[in-house]
Amino acid sequence: KSTRWDSKENESKQLPIYRHKAKLVQAVKDSTFLVVTGETGSGKTTQLPQYLHEAGICKNGKIGITQPRRVAAITVAQRVAQEMQCTLGREVGYQVRFDDCTSQDTVVKYMTDGCLLREVLADPVLSQYSVVILDEVHERSLSTDILLGLLKKVLMDPANATKGRSFPLKVVVMSATLEADKLSAFLSNCPVFAIPGRTFPVTCTFGTAVGPKDTESTGYVKEVVKMALDVHTSEMAGDILVFLTGQSEIERACDLLYEKAETIDYRYDVQDQTVEGLLILPLYGSMPTDQQRQIFQPPPSGIRKCVVATNIAATSLTISGIKYIIDSGFVKQLNHNSRVGMDILEVVPISKSEAQQRAGRAGRTSAGKCFRIYTKEFWEKSMPEYTVPEIQRTSLTAVVLTLKCLGVHDVIRFPYLDCPEERFILGALKQLYQFDAIDRRGKVTRLGELMVEFPLHPGLTRALLKAASLGCEDLLLPVAAMLSVENIFIRPGHPEKQKEADKKHRALAAKSGGTNDFATLLSVFQLCKSSDRPSAWCKDHWIHWRALKSAFSVEIQLKDILHRLQQKRDFPVEKFDGNKSELFRRCLCTGYFTNVARRSVGKVFCTMDGNGSMVHIHPSSSLFDEEVELNWIIFHDVLVTSRVYIRTVCPIRYDWVKDLLPKLHEVDAYELSSVARQ
Ligand code: ADP
Ligand code: MG
Repeated sequence: KSTRWDSKENESKQLPIYRHKAKLVQAVKDSTFLVVTGETGSGKTTQLPQYLHEAGICKNGKIGITQPRRVAAITVAQRVAQEMQCTLGREVGYQVRFDDCTSQDTVVKYMTDGCLLREVLADPVLSQYSVVILDEVHERSLSTDILLGLLKKVLMDPANATKGRSFPLKVVVMSATLEADKLSAFLSNCPVFAIPGRTFPVTCTFGTAVGPKDTESTGYVKEVVKMALDVHTSEMAGDILVFLTGQSEIERACDLLYEKAETIDYRYDVQDQTVEGLLILPLYGSMPTDQQRQIFQPPPSGIRKCVVATNIAATSLTISGIKYIIDSGFVKQLNHNSRVGMDILEVVPISKSEAQQRAGRAGRTSAGKCFRIYTKEFWEKSMPEYTVPEIQRTSLTAVVLTLKCLGVHDVIRFPYLDCPEERFILGALKQLYQFDAIDRRGKVTRLGELMVEFPLHPGLTRALLKAASLGCEDLLLPVAAMLSVENIFIRPGHPEKQKEADKKHRALAAKSGGTNDFATLLSVFQLCKSSDRPSAWCKDHWIHWRALKSAFSVEIQLKDILHRLQQKRDFPVEKFDGNKSELFRRCLCTGYFTNVARRSVGKVFCTMDGNGSMVHIHPSSSLFDEEVELNWIIFHDVLVTSRVYIRTVCPIRYDWVKDLLPKLHEVDAYELSSVARQ
């Protein structure tokens, strides 16, 4: 054995979970449901699956472990593969949306909760699994909540528990915080295994930068950077973990840190002489995984590590050596916005329990400090006690369709851990009806059965299926792929470079006609794909090569799903006479007629979904400066700042949506749930 492995093995023997190995394995064997709790970093995610594997549980079937975040699934799988000394994708693998790194040999499978939900669709009793571990349940992600309800429904009924299976399925529910009692009560008072944790005290201080009125979240990046530099120059050795909300903010903070760190004069104010430099490491969801690996490595001696991360570092990933936390007090969250009637990614204050969790990251191995940049008043007046579960604040359209396809017709009385508001369920039913995925009685249509196969927003799926029925899916597949990856247009931030990038992007838009952002996406996809040196082409046009590469792969996967469905006999076929540009835009209309806006005055548009919101075209759109008569448009999504901006815009003709628009108001949502209410 190599020394490296020995040290890893010793490391894992020191984790709090290790002493409870035998009892834990027994507890899993003894009951259908088991709740496991323990402090973040105690070893639940990385060790328990290995213990179960060692105990021979995999002879019946795989061990599946879900994570709400894709980065967590990938990173943890990498780590466990390393600990088990196997190649990632063999015994240990992962699967996230559009990225499957598993094989026939995979017995320990990390995956996103969304992926497991899709597997339930194909195989409701999960016959390939011996154990399913729902991890990070305290995060209360939409898919995890639905899986909890589904597994409860299936396994609590003894007739179901063994149907289609030769051995009983075991379900472990893991959570970092104090939700254990609630979870156990939900799962018919199943046993709870609490792993005693070791934590050290963390001293928290409040700042002055963000007060209760600072809901516009712009000033705090600078403040966070200042705080990090203060800590670096005045505090004893120990690494820093900074919490911000997203990629662009994190990159900006890192840039500022690089600039400033170079100008620190170490002759003054530096109490700890070992501190000579600062190693600045960003950490966010869409980062390349080889870069992420650096986060876990100890810094070179005499160097202080400063990780600037999203909320992912709060519970899903544990970074060792952290002694100082700098908390911005904000998080990016998907919320249903009733003003515009849509789900919007917003920056909002974190909850108090979230703030405590963040602070706790400093006390893993010794006493730590947490510097909050917000005031005590902000804490008292602007931060809620707990984070509202996703199921109670986002659109349920995709999930309700999934439930219906699983035969759960009464989606109102489904066993939810926390019930969503009825209006959210009704809203989902209404939208499914608008997309022809369910009929007036709430029954899934043939189209709905096709739609559920795609891991995309139902509207986008609707447009794609329309295109496929007209034989022009080649127009929509790349668009769907491009909208499923991170933004492909690089925004360098630096004013000179930004000008150059803008010029290139405008030229790309002009190539596709200059008036349709969806067409620009299609054209970028095609131009790059047909280029001899695609990465050089991207560099030249200020396009994200990594994002575009993912889009290529996503397009192939979507095409595979579509081709599989097209081989079935009753795949719809339609005819269309007209030019290609119109065909393309009319396909888009079938999926985006819920997002139609009409010119109101000047550059202000008004949405036609019944909300009548006033919206503006975002400056990133090629239609931003458009002087031509632009009366009717459709758009992909919305960004809310002081104004409501719409992004990815396409001009349409009223004729094309005339027959679709009435659908928005045609049916009373209660009527759709009537089946459920009988
Ligand atoms: P829990 O799930 O209870 O929060 P984990 O199993 O995630 O705990 O982590 C246990 C330990 O493994 C932590 O000390 C963490 O630092 C370490 N660890 C986890 N993932 C990695 C990784 N990718 N590289 C290095 N260390 C890791
Ligand atoms: Mg964990």
